[in-house]
Amino acid sequence: MTDAKKLTIIMEPNGLEQTINKRYRNMKFNVTFNSEECKGCELCTVWCKKKLITFDTSFLNKQGIHPATIENMEECIGCCNCALMCPDAIITIEKIEDEQKGKE
Ligand code: SF4
Ligand code: SF4
Repeated sequence: MTDAKKLTIIMEPNGLEQTINKRYRNMKFNVTFNSEECKGCELCTVWCKKKLITFDTSFLNKQGIHPATIENMEECIGCCNCALMCPDAIITIEKIEDEQKGKE
């Protein structure tokens, strides 16, 4: 049910970023793309509140597109907006570290 929990956070009308920062502040996330399937629609770039997603101009995928990629991944807050908005579901978010564990 982790995905449902994240979706609830995303839909909160006020204080979205504060809520996410509070709940996920010590967590790190790994964001990966199935680059060959990216069609460059830019939805992920628009919906990333941290503006971390750009396009990899050094690489053309099989569709002739510079695919989406992430910069400064350490700033990702794991909100999953990008993955939820991608029409082809080619973005994966994984939690890779939780520094709060053991401190509570
Ligand atoms: S999970 Fe959120 S913060 Fe991280 S890249 Fe996707 S939209 Fe941006
Ligand atoms: S939303 Fe998906 S298909 Fe569109 S640019 Fe981002 S990764 Fe590519």
